[in-house]
Amino acid sequence: MTVRVRFAPSPTGHLHIGGLRTALYNFLLAKSQGGSFILRIEDTDQERSEKKYEALQMEALRWAGIDWDEGPGEGPCGPYRQSERLSFYKKYADRLIEEDKAFYCFCTDEELAEMKEKAVKENRPPHYDGRYRNYPKSEALQRIAAGEKPAVRFKASLKSFILEDLVRGRVVFPENMVGDFVIVRSNGLPIYNFCCVVDDWLMKITHVVRGEDHLSNTVRQLMLYEALDASRPQFAHVSLLIGQDRQKLSKRHGVVSVDHYRQEGFLPEAMTNYLCLLGWSHPQEKEIFSQNEVVDLFDTTRFTKASAIYDLEKLKYINGQHLRRLSNEDILKRCEKFFPKNHPFFDGSNSWKIQCISFFKDQVQFFNQLPGLLDDLFRIDSRGDDEDELKAIRGLESTPVMATYLKSEIERLLSENKAFAQKDDFSHWMTHIKKELKIKGKPLFKGMRAVLTGAAQGPELVGLIPLTPLSVLKDRMKRY
Ligand code: GLU
Repeated sequence: MTVRVRFAPSPTGHLHIGGLRTALYNFLLAKSQGGSFILRIEDTDQERSEKKYEALQMEALRWAGIDWDEGPGEGPCGPYRQSERLSFYKKYADRLIEEDKAFYCFCTDEELAEMKEKAVKENRPPHYDGRYRNYPKSEALQRIAAGEKPAVRFKASLKSFILEDLVRGRVVFPENMVGDFVIVRSNGLPIYNFCCVVDDWLMKITHVVRGEDHLSNTVRQLMLYEALDASRPQFAHVSLLIGQDRQKLSKRHGVVSVDHYRQEGFLPEAMTNYLCLLGWSHPQEKEIFSQNEVVDLFDTTRFTKASAIYDLEKLKYINGQHLRRLSNEDILKRCEKFFPKNHPFFDGSNSWKIQCISFFKDQVQFFNQLPGLLDDLFRIDSRGDDEDELKAIRGLESTPVMATYLKSEIERLLSENKAFAQKDDFSHWMTHIKKELKIKGKPLFKGMRAVLTGAAQGPELVGLIPLTPLSVLKDRMKRY
């Protein structure tokens, strides 16, 4: 069997991180089995679907490294937009009517509301009361010919259904769970459950991996598979993503669109790594991995049943881990768009930029934290956040003595046409200050930092100073 899976988003908004996780699981399942991953656009809700969201969702998937083998415009089972497949749905809806498995329903919205109200009052499930179930077809056709527009309802099966779900195990849907349900609206547009079954069947989908919130749809879909005599795929209903309050992850919990994370500089490899772990576990319990590393190991037996709590801090941590896995060259290439335009960092030589990245990358989890750190290489005045401490250090007797010496050293290097001090120069300064100027301990370390960087705290000086332009060091020292 060739595995064929699909991701079937509705283009009604930005891609949600839960959607990205679903896409990822399907993608990994396809790739691990040498199968095909299909992108199908479920855009039959004309009011809410927008082309712009289709494009944005595709872009977000590609950003995350999830590319499809078949999708809009490409593949043998197209079209892949449901809005372009209406003739298929019509064909099968007509067939169900012909076989007496579906019927025309002329109920108005008011009648349906009344029906529901009555059932609730009588403590019955709010199912359709079967009003048009046995309505003579000839009469229905006459009313249609006269211009009435009925919905098409499926005759729900009364028996129970059993699903062997790849995540949840045996799921039993008891009898009479749903009433006769609409498959085509009175405006002629088909309903999700129906399109989904027709498409999964015609597109030869072998596995459907989706959130467990779809289980209530699944029972309807099982009925439709049976009525259409269609082979049904295997289902894997994965646990939902939930917030810290254990509620389904939604906008209330903060930003949930993939686009947001992308703009913020989260790495796609970190995003997919983290999402993969929310509902699936690595066979060696590894936490940090790339898609390539996991593709051969991925299988449906390691899905977890429990809901997964979305933890932004964990995602940030994983982002930092992935950032550190990148080569300095790669970081340099990818970080530029997170800098303000014309940032002086990009005026430097390539080897200097690479050294800067190598030095600063351990201190960040995100690309967009780099500009702030690199600003420290160009800032002349103090940062302003540690004034009290700085004042105390500057007030030490030894600080101006040390500054006079450092100033002369920097002048000397500049007169030799040097642009940067070397690590050796820095070590030489330290030795000189210790031995000749007799400054040691805190006054030495704190004093040197204050004089050379204009800050009381910061990264290791021996790494930082050789990366700071001598011209900047000179300007900083003007105050002494
Ligand atoms: N369009 C549906 C959704 O976005 C797809 C559900 C499914 O995978 O069957 O939720």
